[in-house]
Amino acid sequence: MKYFAVIGNPITHSKSPDIHAAFAAQFDIDLSYIKLLGNTGDFAATADNFFERGTGANVTLPFKEDALRFADKLSEDAKLAGAVNTLSWQNGIIKGDNTDGVGLVTDIQRNHGCELAGKKVLIIGAGGAARGVILPIARQQAASITIANRTHTKALDLAKQFAEFAPATAAEMASLQLTYDVVINATSASLAGVEINLPKSIFGEQTLAYDMMYAHEPTPFMQFARANGTTVADGLGMLVEQAAKSFEIWHGVFPETRGVITDIRHQL
Ligand code: NDP
Repeated sequence: MKYFAVIGNPITHSKSPDIHAAFAAQFDIDLSYIKLLGNTGDFAATADNFFERGTGANVTLPFKEDALRFADKLSEDAKLAGAVNTLSWQNGIIKGDNTDGVGLVTDIQRNHGCELAGKKVLIIGAGGAARGVILPIARQQAASITIANRTHTKALDLAKQFAEFAPATAAEMASLQLTYDVVINATSASLAGVEINLPKSIFGEQTLAYDMMYAHEPTPFMQFARANGTTVADGLGMLVEQAAKSFEIWHGVFPETRGVITDIRHQL
């Protein structure tokens, strides 16, 4: 039996044990995957204790940067994202990966049928979630990646940091004028249930409006986008797809995800 966990604080709400149990059942893999309440201020103590016999851990809020420091070795995505959501024990070394960006790209392209190549992408937000998705979107040959954030200086910093790797630029939220092919809400505004002050012109009939947040009801961002004629999606598929990528890192096989997304949605 191999041991896995998701470490966060709070953690009771996490769907990850259900998702990994569903994946494991597809391959008859026997595993234990638990929710672990991380020690705020001492993530390393929680992780050290777990990895005495653990094989892999997912890491969620507020520990993704602590996990970056905890890992002995980092993937390219984790380095550039400045955050780790997947830790793996490999012959005494702890490897840190970030599968959030790949999860988002897979969900958008495979589950929502929206290829990113040649597309104009707008990312709202400049926090950890935004940072983690820029490189994976750029790898799909998006035509442009515009970053707009409430605090404009943070968008400028992020665009500058990724300029070498991605067609990324920053724009002031209030002065956005183009219509985008894909608009991604990477802010935590939906968590607070508040609408973001966005110009309607960013949405066209062909736009996919994607909120990284997920809930039982469409988020305020999704409602606003839908009222302006777009197709909308929430971040539940991203959650399941990032888990699938972690599962592949740990077990060497990629699970079927669509049925799992449907099952988890019924539990929301
Ligand atoms: P951070 O705290 O790092 O960043 C928050 C961002 O939201 C900042 O850009 C902030 O702007 C912006 N923001 C907050 N409130 C508002 C508001 N009222 N109006 C406009 N902008 C606002 O959070 P994360 O980047 O880590 O997470 C963002 C979201 O992504 C969360 O909802 C999280 O649940 C989701 N997420 C989903 C995942 C999935 O698998 N589906 C995976 C990872 C994240 P400012 O800089 O001005 O403060």
